[in-house]
Amino acid sequence: MGLIASLFGFLYELFFGCRHGRLTRPFTLERRTYKVCLDCGRQIYYSSERMTPLSAREIRGMKAAQAGPLTVVPAEATAGLLAGRAGKSNAAA
Ligand SMILES: [Zn+2]
Repeated sequence: MGLIASLFGFLYELFFGCRHGRLTRPFTLERRTYKVCLDCGRQIYYSSERMTPLSAREIRGMKAAQAGPLTVVPAEATAGLLAGRAGKSNAAA
């Protein structure tokens, strides 16, 4: 789900060209500090210590730390989901 959301964000930025020029002040919610883009609503994570945006690596580390114990999704469940989706799109076409 996170991958799809980030892919969607990337495509959104590609097509609509949002450069996050209009941002809120950084604020902290649920132990995360971030600014929000007033144009597209994207959250830009921020370091409350340095007052600079977090690097992609720092964001990954933060999310991993907050995700808690590692959850393993069986490969078959993902494959079945993809197969079902493909079948649906074929029927529609
Ligand atoms: Zn934006």
